[in-house]
Amino acid sequence: MNENISFYNFMHRQIAAVLILFIMTGPSYIIMGYIYSSIVFEPLWYSFMLFLSLIGYYLYRDFSKTMTITQKDTWLQKVRYFMFSYFSLWSIVFVYYVLQDNLQLHYIAIATQFGSAVVASTILASQKKLVISTVVTLMLPIFTYFILLDEVFSYILAFFTLVLSLVLLYAAKNTFEYLIKSRYQAYHDYLTSLGNRRYFIELLESSVQENHDKYTYLLLIDLDYFKTINDTLGHDVGDQLLCEVSNRMKSLSNDNNNSLARLGGDEFCILSSAFDTKEECLEEAVKFSNKLLNNIKKTYKVNDDNLYISASIGVSIINNPKLHPSEFLKEADIAMYEAKNNGRDGVIVFSDELCSLIEKKLEIERMLHFAIEKDEISLMYQPQVDCEKNIIGCEVLVRWNNARLGMIPPDVFIPIAEHTGYIIELGDYILEEALKTAKEWCDAGKNLDQLSINISMRQLLHKDFIFRVGVLMKKYIASDCPIKIIFEITETSAAEDLKKLVVVIKKLKQFNIHFSMDDFGTGYSSLSYLREIPIDELKIDKSFIAEISDKQQASLVKTIIDISKNLDLKIVAEGVEENYQKEFLKEHDCDLYQGYLFSKPITKSEFNKLL
Ligand code: C2E
Ligand code: CA
Ligand code: CA
Repeated sequence: MNENISFYNFMHRQIAAVLILFIMTGPSYIIMGYIYSSIVFEPLWYSFMLFLSLIGYYLYRDFSKTMTITQKDTWLQKVRYFMFSYFSLWSIVFVYYVLQDNLQLHYIAIATQFGSAVVASTILASQKKLVISTVVTLMLPIFTYFILLDEVFSYILAFFTLVLSLVLLYAAKNTFEYLIKSRYQAYHDYLTSLGNRRYFIELLESSVQENHDKYTYLLLIDLDYFKTINDTLGHDVGDQLLCEVSNRMKSLSNDNNNSLARLGGDEFCILSSAFDTKEECLEEAVKFSNKLLNNIKKTYKVNDDNLYISASIGVSIINNPKLHPSEFLKEADIAMYEAKNNGRDGVIVFSDELCSLIEKKLEIERMLHFAIEKDEISLMYQPQVDCEKNIIGCEVLVRWNNARLGMIPPDVFIPIAEHTGYIIELGDYILEEALKTAKEWCDAGKNLDQLSINISMRQLLHKDFIFRVGVLMKKYIASDCPIKIIFEITETSAAEDLKKLVVVIKKLKQFNIHFSMDDFGTGYSSLSYLREIPIDELKIDKSFIAEISDKQQASLVKTIIDISKNLDLKIVAEGVEENYQKEFLKEHDCDLYQGYLFSKPITKSEFNKLL
């Protein structure tokens, strides 16, 4: 940041201060003129001062925080000329008075001149050159005056004048340095020395004003899983890593003439220079973002450790000066969160479509909150059959029919519910409804082996879950109920979750709950995973079944079945739509089949009829 930028507001206030000071002390000269010398010079001089004051007032009024940096620079230049002339006025009085015979006037002139110099050195401290020229202009006449007196005492006074001038300049220099330092601290981040949020917002504001007919891009960069590094390796390592990352970004930004700032934590912002067309700006934004991502991903060496980190970047293209700069930051933020949702380590450019998508998501989020209350949640049951097409079990699938939004598929609202935490309440409701149904079937003596319920990881690992399952199982499922309750779970990525998961599963097994690994082969599954988690059943994901005509996919399915057999797991194929798929699976000894070939998910009463 240009050092002057810091002092626009400061100088603005100083104009008011000198105007008040000068206009108020000026009239004393008119009185003095009336008493001692002429009645022409002083009023003339004061009129001239009032004229200059008027210019000062206009400069004061002209300043506005929304001016561009260039406008502010021009303004500051005018203020400098004004200040210099304004202070120099006193030297005119000085020269005029010391040329008079009346010694009393000399004393007044000398005292005033010293006073002006002191005022100049404090009020103009933020402008280095201005302070020097003004103090010299005020002190040089006194110094010359003493020399010209040509007496021993006057030489001593000339020397003192010199010393005082140097002291004033030294004090001004100290104030200047202090201002620079405190300004620096207010606008910079202590850890990385990059500009901080305040710096960036001001930079953004002036850039938006200045480039209103051009295009610039704004990048919001957030490191992925940085918190994990902080938590596991300590804040010192985290800080060092942040510095390394910011150094890499800084050198790339400098190469591209971009400005970089740290907004806080592991969040950084970059503002580009201006482009003439939107296309060019967009292309450069994406190109530069990818360059950043690749650079950030390279290995870091911190305390002999090799560290790796990636980042998610949101991009906003700026060209509408009517929008408040914070709107662009918000846009980049929305895009960045979308990049996080898309699996991180990527770039997303903000667009109106993205915005409406997010708005839709937020609306779903709001509506979902009342779904149970408004009785909009229902359950469907999809049969699971054996190779003879006998119904052996079913999977419970949730449905949400909202009055305003219509039918929302679970693929859409379940992740939202997981994100907001509503899944705890929703999952509990589904579990209770499903167990009620199981009880009805038990009581009616329906011939069904198993009932599968999807359980989200967040729900499963919730602190009250085990207790709730205990209560509900006791309430609905009698010990002689032949229907086996299965919880379908999907794989988790985190190792720490895995340990916790095993503990939870073992506890739930005490309530006679069985477990099925859902969507097998799509997530983070590995063979060791299967060994560690005490599951009873494995569901081959429907994407494998859909491509079973492909030789490679077919052998993969075959391998999965073989492994399951070896591990003594029951195997369910889901998404079976075609007869040839079923034949293939049957040939390889698959246990259960689920899919449109047999039945779509159906209501309870429809299912009752089937049974
Ligand atoms: P999922 O657990 O893999 O459920 C199977 C999905 O495949 C269901 O979609 C089902 O309708 C669909 N399906 C069944 N047979 C076929 C077929 O032959 N072909 C095709 N193309 N699809 C078939 P649905 O009901 O839309 O559920 C989607 C996902 O939503 C589920 O995937 C599950 O992850 C989640 N979900 C559904 N109900 C619940 C629930 O009660 N709790 C939780 N936590 N998640 C649920
Ligand atoms: Ca499932
Ligand atoms: Ca599945």
